[in-house]
Amino acid sequence: TKKYGRNNYTIYTEELDQKTTYKLTIEQDLKSASQNQEFVLHYQPITNLKTGELSAMEALVRWNHPELGIVPPDHFIPILEESGQIVSLGKWVLETACAQNKTWQDEGAPPFKICVNISPIQLQHPNFIPMVKSVLETTGLDAKWLELEVTESILIEDMKRLKECLTNLKELGLSMSIDDFGTGYTSLSYLQQFSFDRVKIDRSFIQGINTDSNSTAITSTIISLAHKLKMEVVAEGIEDETQLAYLQEENCDEGQGYYFSRPLPAELHAFPLSHNTAN
Ligand code: C2E
Ligand code: CA
Ligand code: CA
Ligand code: CA
Repeated sequence: TKKYGRNNYTIYTEELDQKTTYKLTIEQDLKSASQNQEFVLHYQPITNLKTGELSAMEALVRWNHPELGIVPPDHFIPILEESGQIVSLGKWVLETACAQNKTWQDEGAPPFKICVNISPIQLQHPNFIPMVKSVLETTGLDAKWLELEVTESILIEDMKRLKECLTNLKELGLSMSIDDFGTGYTSLSYLQQFSFDRVKIDRSFIQGINTDSNSTAITSTIISLAHKLKMEVVAEGIEDETQLAYLQEENCDEGQGYYFSRPLPAELHAFPLSHNTAN
């Protein structure tokens, strides 16, 4: 009936309005978020699957919005990338994460790496390498405890420049990993030309372990090829014991996911942190 149709239309526009309002609020309020110190970092453990020991922590940014509450990075990173503001947020993230890792070490925690996500926009910025160098100096963190994560998408940009950039970064003494592996278009042989230390298998494959034969096959293929190329492998998004058992059987080096811990504020992690991975 006519009435039914009208109601439907009303509901539809209300939903659309809500979405638009949310987006506009975010775009507007992002401008003052840094200044108001509304960004926070949460940290998620990366566990050695052989020993159960903590091998690293990944820093993940959140926006603590005064009215909306915690806003996930997927909702605001793309906007900051578009405006270029990701460069200054990225610097804050790196500084805060390195300083936090130094604090953990000074407090006597067994040392582990801090992993920091780097946007392609940041990597392309001419001041990126001096910025990383100065952050290491001011925080006093030894570069061997820092790992930068970049996604596969950067590999299709200017190859020569990228190679140079990665070489210079490695000369600082830090390590590099390739994030969300398997979701882009590059092959592992292509990766070999760059000096990555680690490959992180995207969680979409891990979540298909034992339920989807393609995901299971892709996972074990990435692990064995990466090992042949002398890279370590981290599985992202491990949520249950079946996934963990399979990854251990396939000799995956490290794992991260809700099975071990959700990302948490620094003060909620107690050390030494280790998990029983025996089964
Ligand atoms: P990512 O780098 O792939 O980070 C892993 C994401 O998976 C995180 O989402 C984490 O909370 C989530 N995760 C971890 N374990 C599990 C699990 O067992 N199950 C499920 N379903 N999810 C899990 P988050 O924190 O929402 O971050 C999303 C993305 O935002 C990150 O993906 C990264 O690409 C980006 N991001 C986060 N922090 C930063 C940052 O400081 N700088 C930049 N440039 N990007 C960031
Ligand atoms: Ca990451
Ligand atoms: Ca990832
Ligand atoms: Ca991701």
